[in-house]
Amino acid sequence: MAGAPEVRGASLRELAAGVAAGRWKSRDLVDAYLDRIKRLDEKLGCFLLVDAAGARQAADAIDRKVAAGDSVGPLAGVPIGLKDIFVTRGMETTAGSKILKGFIPPYESTVSGRLAAAGAINLGKINMDEFAMGSSNENSAYKPVRNPWDLERVPGGSSGGSAAALAASLCAGTLGTDTGGSIRQPASLCGIVGVKPTYGRVSRYGVIAFASSLDHPGPFGRTVEDAAALLEVIAGHDPMDSTSIPQPAGSYVKACSAGIAGLRIGMPKEYFQSGMDPEIEAAVRAAIDELGRAGAKVVPVSLPHTQYAIATYYLICTAEASSNLARYDGVRYGHRTAEAASLEELYAKTRGEGFGKEPKRRIILGTYVLRAGYYEAYYGKALRVRRLIANDFSAAFNECDVLVTPTSPTPAFKLGERSADPLEMYLADIYTVAPPLAGVPALSQCCGFTRSGLPIGLQTIGPALGEEAVFRVAGAYQARTDWHKRLPQDVP
Ligand code: GLN
Repeated sequence: MAGAPEVRGASLRELAAGVAAGRWKSRDLVDAYLDRIKRLDEKLGCFLLVDAAGARQAADAIDRKVAAGDSVGPLAGVPIGLKDIFVTRGMETTAGSKILKGFIPPYESTVSGRLAAAGAINLGKINMDEFAMGSSNENSAYKPVRNPWDLERVPGGSSGGSAAALAASLCAGTLGTDTGGSIRQPASLCGIVGVKPTYGRVSRYGVIAFASSLDHPGPFGRTVEDAAALLEVIAGHDPMDSTSIPQPAGSYVKACSAGIAGLRIGMPKEYFQSGMDPEIEAAVRAAIDELGRAGAKVVPVSLPHTQYAIATYYLICTAEASSNLARYDGVRYGHRTAEAASLEELYAKTRGEGFGKEPKRRIILGTYVLRAGYYEAYYGKALRVRRLIANDFSAAFNECDVLVTPTSPTPAFKLGERSADPLEMYLADIYTVAPPLAGVPALSQCCGFTRSGLPIGLQTIGPALGEEAVFRVAGAYQARTDWHKRLPQDVP
């Protein structure tokens, strides 16, 4: 036994292989990551809860199994972290909100259960924008998260804590949720891989709801293979989620090395308009050239309803959020106001005290667009435009196998820079909101750095159920480039 390997920059798959082969102990990996969390996370703010004792206990159990020669799962012994939107039995789950402070779930989300069954070790619960509403992690009711590449900047959101924790090697893999970009945009801003699968591919059972028709749980990985390995474990039908699709998980890791000879890559012209950030445009165009050299054929395509995606997204997500968040009434979960003279006052005071600014804004907007007199004008219209956006993708996928675009219109911005103007914040999602509206899979990976050293993301979008094609492209690009090997400095 050689002791723990260097976990900074380590790949989840390599760590798992080493545990299974008895080259190192899961317990040593857990201790190494806990030590990094202790040294680095006070500045970064990634974790809301660290379960050191539980993680050590689970790691020891894996080590005993390996020593006894018992078979262990594909993720045996690797320390991961969970966005605090996944409910964990017996472990406080807040969705980044004060209204859920003290909520100890009596059950486990399907995906965190599957990770545990595959042998992954949960280090704890990770910071996020309140109820996954945000693009900077500044909407967390607890604390902001800082970007490990530049502590003055945001990590993106709403899964900003997950992306930052992985980028800073505070865990070997993480899960997030993506409703309008919340996996891909923080992956882009933190220089790692993030995957939003096809809608229904990954169960939402036990995932605290924001906008149910748009919520997609998915993985973050340091490499495309790491993300693929996590997706293989969490994907697949779940009878506990009525929108879960029956198709079994695919062979995503294998797809990463399948090559892209002859694959048709579509460049949607609406995603490459004049006025783009020049460094982002240059990096993404260079990446597309690289894919061309790897054997793909690049074709121009059009997604004509792209300009309506942000408005459509914010109508639908606020409508669904206003309905989903109605359950926080001070009776069933978490926070309850100290004193109330009537039931109505109990609701009003609990919700007034428990929700932060952004959920309140969205509840009000969502209630407005669902009102009897406005339903047709706003919500009904948005549903029809959503269909047109989905049709755009179907038409484009007649001409190409995948689409390639930037993930985020800008690199990581400064903390506070956009928090005063919600509209400006909403524009951070301009390239990421359409795929969830259409339910199609999409991945972000690093394709370069700005002159000031900030990561730039490349987005690959596939047709529904086309995750393999997305991983083929991402794997081919990664094989020809070194961006994924760069690491941020440790700043204790
Ligand atoms: N930033 C978007 C929003 O605020 C997307 C969030 C998400 O994907 N959860 O709604």
